Amino acid sequence: MKQMKMILASGNRKKLAELSRILEPMGFNVIPKDEAGVDFDPEENGATFAENAKIKAEAICKAVGEAAVADDSGLCVDALNGAPGIYSARYAGENASDSDRIDKLLSELAEVSAENRTARFVSAVCICFPDGSMIEAEGVCEGMIAFERRGNGGFGYDPVFLVGEKSFAELSAEEKDALSHRGKALRALQEKLEKAGF
Ligand code: IMP
Repeated sequence: MKQMKMILASGNRKKLAELSRILEPMGFNVIPKDEAGVDFDPEENGATFAENAKIKAEAICKAVGEAAVADDSGLCVDALNGAPGIYSARYAGENASDSDRIDKLLSELAEVSAENRTARFVSAVCICFPDGSMIEAEGVCEGMIAFERRGNGGFGYDPVFLVGEKSFAELSAEEKDALSHRGKALRALQEKLEKAGF
């Protein structure tokens, strides 16, 4: 694939770092939206991860006039009927921290047994081009919610998301990217871009 410049439509520094470290080795020249002069966050009022990814990528592409890529992601917990889902970032209120959200999740699941703590991370990614075309992809990573935090790496719900014996926060960046919803979604996106002739 040719070198392709794209604007990253995320305001979340940790997520931005993950997107860049996966996309750069694929040959993308990625520029965070604030470095491209965008100082607003599009309102995420879609009903699905895919709709929200599209809203973000389209808005940034329009604002900058260059290809823009967005990820919308979250954690879906079976015992909570899929919550927090698309509300993962706002699960404990607007100004809450990652730690507040984990506390809320663990307390909601306090009475749920080990075998019923199944969950999945979902990432929908979308790249929009100035000519109005777009390519979308999705990645899912199945896991379990731990009873307590484990590890210091990653971000968000990583310390309580177990894949096998380890939490996402106990994995190296390379290990997480190989398994994660975001890694899978971006590799699927790359494949679709290649098929489309980029
Ligand atoms: P978004 O910026 O609206 O896509 O919010 C996604 C939210 O889902 C983040 O703020 C995290 O709370 C959570 N999330 C998404 N991906 C991950 C991940 O890889 N690890 C941990 N939490 C994640």
